[in-house]
Amino acid sequence: MTTAATPRTDAHDLFGELTGAAPVGYWSAPGRVNLIGEHTDYNDGFVFPFAIDGRTIAALGTRDDGRIRVVSTFDPVPVEVALADLDALFPHHRDEIVEWARYPLGVAWALRDAARAAGRDADALTGVDIALASDVPVGAGLSSSAAIEGATASALNDVWQLSLSPVDLAQAGRRAENLAVGAPTGIMDQMASMLGRADAGIFLDCRSLEVDVVPLGFADAGLEVLVIDTRVSHAHSTGGYGERREACERGAQIMGVAALRDLVPADLDRARALMDDVTFRRVRHVVTEDQRVLDAVRLLRAEGPRAIGALLDASHASMRDDFEISTPELDLAVATARAAGAVGARMTGGGFGGAAIALIDRELVEEATARVAAAFAAAGFGAAHVFTVHPSDGARRDG
Ligand code: ADP
Ligand code: MG
Repeated sequence: MTTAATPRTDAHDLFGELTGAAPVGYWSAPGRVNLIGEHTDYNDGFVFPFAIDGRTIAALGTRDDGRIRVVSTFDPVPVEVALADLDALFPHHRDEIVEWARYPLGVAWALRDAARAAGRDADALTGVDIALASDVPVGAGLSSSAAIEGATASALNDVWQLSLSPVDLAQAGRRAENLAVGAPTGIMDQMASMLGRADAGIFLDCRSLEVDVVPLGFADAGLEVLVIDTRVSHAHSTGGYGERREACERGAQIMGVAALRDLVPADLDRARALMDDVTFRRVRHVVTEDQRVLDAVRLLRAEGPRAIGALLDASHASMRDDFEISTPELDLAVATARAAGAVGARMTGGGFGGAAIALIDRELVEEATARVAAAFAAAGFGAAHVFTVHPSDGARRDG
């Protein structure tokens, strides 16, 4: 992904402005794109995201007064609280904290609990200053939220010497997002951001949290992943997402299973007879999407990346027609990319806006980008932001 900003320099400079000193270190975590497996995570199902080459950097220094102060290039007004007060703030009084700061402070809160669970004295953990900078686009379905959580969690894990595993840190990030921010999201984003690997996808079983790192081979096949950010904003906390979750829970209950993950496509005839049409279509999306994830991983291994194009297309149709979370902008992005020769294309992320992805030959990227611009202009839509992303390493210490 190409951006003018260098978040590492920005984080360094911001930290200097905040403290007048240099940080003890830098930690970073990437955003992610979900290749396939949408709205399956909270149904205990399968997802297949990869970490991208946009990252959030945390520059961290310690302080000896037991307080935590966070600042971001997004909002240069620092937010400061005593670490001991985090327990009173989250989750019930989270509204007292400006929304963006709930992400890093929520991670600190969750990690203090994790420290306690590991037998540590949470009140002995050192205070910290954290400056954050990022080149992950916000609200585009690329999980800038997991990136800020992962960078913060990695930094605190090291400085507090918690020795938590990447999966533990992903869970702390999810807990922060669910309870400190108040967004009812699954574990996919944090797992992809923590565990991503260059040129590989993270095949995740959201029930067992078992992970398989699957080589994608896009570069060798001459393929790029094009992101078409429609810039129509989405908000997970608004109704549509919650309604979809409720429909899934209802469907699982009617079918007598713990989660939709426990159904297979052959169960759908029975499902159709037992529930109303809307609930049935929500169920059908999740059940067929789980199967598409399994098929994508199998086909990638057996035949390489070009073999998954039809699954990407089918995933989009299912989200558009059955789960009803696409938008006219996303549908146009997908149709235009396909017409420009993409191997496959689908909306990605939670829906109701955000981005689409297209798997496309490198030499067609320029043409596809121009065609998307023309199609959006002709439809009277605001300009889309079109760029490529590359499967990259997950959270790490950066110096
Ligand atoms: P997405 O994860 O798809 O980008 P979300 O709504 O889940 O969208 O998360 C975006 C929110 O995360 C932002 O509105 C902001 O509150 C917070 N956030 C993400 N990155 C940063 C950052 N670098 N600095 C401050 N806040 C951030
Ligand atoms: Mg998010």
